[in-house]
Amino acid sequence: MRAFVPNYEITTPSSLADALALLNRERGVWKPFAGGTDLMVLLEAGKLPHRNYVNIWGLKELRGIEANDTHITLGALTTYTDVQSHPILQSEFPMLCHAASETGGLAIQNRGTLGGNIVNASPAADSPPALLAYDAEIEIVSTDGSRRQPYQGFHTGYKQMLLAPNELLTRIRMPRNTRNATHYYRKVGTRKAQAISKVCLAALAKLEGDQISDVRIAFGSVAPIVVRCVQTENALRAQKLDDETIKSACATLSKEISPIDDIRSTADYRLRVAKNLLTDFFLTLRA
Ligand SMILES: Cc1cc2nc3c(=O)[nH]c(=O)nc-3n(C[C@H](O)[C@H](O)[C@H](O)COP(=O)(O)OP(=O)(O)OC[C@H]3O[C@@H](n4cnc5c(N)ncnc54)[C@H](O)[C@@H]3O)c2cc1C
Repeated sequence: MRAFVPNYEITTPSSLADALALLNRERGVWKPFAGGTDLMVLLEAGKLPHRNYVNIWGLKELRGIEANDTHITLGALTTYTDVQSHPILQSEFPMLCHAASETGGLAIQNRGTLGGNIVNASPAADSPPALLAYDAEIEIVSTDGSRRQPYQGFHTGYKQMLLAPNELLTRIRMPRNTRNATHYYRKVGTRKAQAISKVCLAALAKLEGDQISDVRIAFGSVAPIVVRCVQTENALRAQKLDDETIKSACATLSKEISPIDDIRSTADYRLRVAKNLLTDFFLTLRA
């Protein structure tokens, strides 16, 4: 049943400092509300337990995409539409653009944010595998100051993460080291559009001669959190592009991921598709 809207409160601070002060003053009482595309689904279904929200949508400190010679930095409020139209993201981070183009429909792409996607912490979210493969770092801010940490390691368990109630995710930063890499992004869902992933792979690698180097592999929907598959990367790194290598990498992947049966798919199907996608990435690299 739909929630009773007057039971909810939302406040709109005029600056990041005001938002952080409120989150700190009444810790755990207020939660951020960005694009609202995850939160509104829960509200409509009458399943939004938390009652007080800080509307961060208008905070200019959390917007914008900036690049220097070594990094590109995206504000947490960057939408999927912003991502798809940015020239540097298009040329150097195509997997993130691909993920954005397959996230929901146009309305969701105009309103949903990368920060919301990360903090909503769904293991089936589509941008996080690309962010993991691009070695993203995130910036987290509170009234105590700011810290930057690798995105890998931020999620500690299903819907668990290293974020205190008085903190906001403010920026996402990626190193510009993807030139000459092969990028591979594939989301497998029930339909081509408006479908939640059954399995999603973001992978990139460079070649030195006939050997694989700088390989990065991240999967969604195959574990309680989106995972960077370090052991599978190790099985591929410095190896030749032959059948033996991909066989061994698929065997390692089977041990590294832990897909489950749920309403959208089965563990068996997910494992099989994950190995097929890894093989397809490998064949793309070989081609
Ligand atoms: C029809 C539909 C289709 C969808 N399709 C997809 C899809 O294909 N792929 C996909 O990955 N997702 C999909 N989503 C989910 C959703 O759109 C994304 O997760 C989106 O990125 C969430 O961003 P938001 O700004 O709307 O988050 P919100 O709903 O505003 O917030 C989500 C959570 O993040 C927290 N939060 C938001 N911003 C911050 C911040 N800066 N710091 C700290 N906490 C924060 C909020 O408190 C809340 O807990 C879909 C949703 C709908 C309704």
